[in-house]
Amino acid sequence: MALTGLEIYKHLPKTNCKDCGFPTCLAFAMKMATKQVALDKCPHVTPQAKAALESAARPPIQLVAIGTGDAEIKIGNETQLYRHEEKFHRPTAIAIRVSDTLDEDALAARAEAVGKLGFERVGVRIGVNLVAVDNQSGDPGRFAQAAKRAAETSGLACVLISNRPESLQQAASALAGKRPLLYIADPARSEAAARVAKDEDCPLAVRADGVDALAELTPRIASLGLEQLVLDPGTRSVKATLDALTRIRRLALRNFRPLGYPTIAFTADADPTMQAVEASAYVAKYAGVVVTDAAEPWQLLPVLTTRQDIYTDPQKPSAVEPKLYAVGDVSPGSPVLVTTNFSLSYYSVEGEVEASRVPSYVIAVDTEGTSVLTAWASDKFNAETITKALKKSGVEEKVSHRKLVIPGFVAVLSAGVEDESGWAVQIGPKEAAGLPSYLKKQWRAGA
Ligand code: SF4
Repeated sequence: MALTGLEIYKHLPKTNCKDCGFPTCLAFAMKMATKQVALDKCPHVTPQAKAALESAARPPIQLVAIGTGDAEIKIGNETQLYRHEEKFHRPTAIAIRVSDTLDEDALAARAEAVGKLGFERVGVRIGVNLVAVDNQSGDPGRFAQAAKRAAETSGLACVLISNRPESLQQAASALAGKRPLLYIADPARSEAAARVAKDEDCPLAVRADGVDALAELTPRIASLGLEQLVLDPGTRSVKATLDALTRIRRLALRNFRPLGYPTIAFTADADPTMQAVEASAYVAKYAGVVVTDAAEPWQLLPVLTTRQDIYTDPQKPSAVEPKLYAVGDVSPGSPVLVTTNFSLSYYSVEGEVEASRVPSYVIAVDTEGTSVLTAWASDKFNAETITKALKKSGVEEKVSHRKLVIPGFVAVLSAGVEDESGWAVQIGPKEAAGLPSYLKKQWRAGA
């Protein structure tokens, strides 16, 4: 939580000695509050005041880094309970579980597949972030080997799951310098695992039997000098986990320090569909990491879509540049379609045009990132704005016809657009999903 200038001032020497380059301690405090100067510029601050200021300035939810380089993931540092107050900043990391009981080739194949899991959605690549190696064998040597192989073949940072600190020690050493997240499954051995995490300079996820038990455990871990913590309340049903994750977030945002860390949740249902449902629910309600066995593309797409939606800024419309787009190998005879510059509208149209294999021009009209019906209702998508976009796009010089396809939902605009633009209007399907059939059959028939 950011401190005000007056709160910082209370901890300064108040001698106005000017050694920091500011005329008074208050002036220094005000600059510090706006992060324009660091505390170490004051050589006279006492160690107690320094500790108090650093502790008070810590964010309510600790920022935790997992992995290094391109594979690095950061979780935590969130400041809100509701995303309409301020966007959520650090998207939930999705981790796919890989067992160390698999033989070497099967493990490498699964880890490689996990590393490649991803999709293109509304112009953004969305994918899995972590591979979670589970020490189901109980064998430290086998676990270390599996961790090394999984990291190499997936190209992702790792979560190392074990109930044995000695297994975590060997696997962390095998991944020296890669900063895996160590997860100790046995609450009774958390402090031993914390010593391993400290020695190996890794973040640690601890499990306890409920939120209250976690709040008692974390100060003991922190007293060992480990602040890079992730919390597992130990719940494995959807209801109990959502309740626990929400409680942790609420208390953390009220500056309850023992719970001021990001969280980890595990999907537990044996049903593959429910695994995707569970993972999506935990993404929506505050999990920093979700570990799941759901590795099929059909399971992951809804989870990653949920994450993308939750972590966009609800105060900013998601928009593409309003302009003319050529989709496919266009020619003078290609259809010309019009839509809005709302990302989801545009990319839905673009995707369906690609699927149709009928190269087309798409004009994205500037509707300030609103969808077709919203823009129509607010008079941003009308005969005038469509005609203006059509003229500005320069498509008249690129095609040999004068036919414009408008979305079926705004068929009512057809006469107005014809009058304004002089182009013949054809009514396209209401939903983008109808475009392949329309472009293959009706467009050609009407051309
Ligand atoms: S150096 Fe420290 S004590 Fe001196 S004016 Fe600056 S803040 Fe105050």
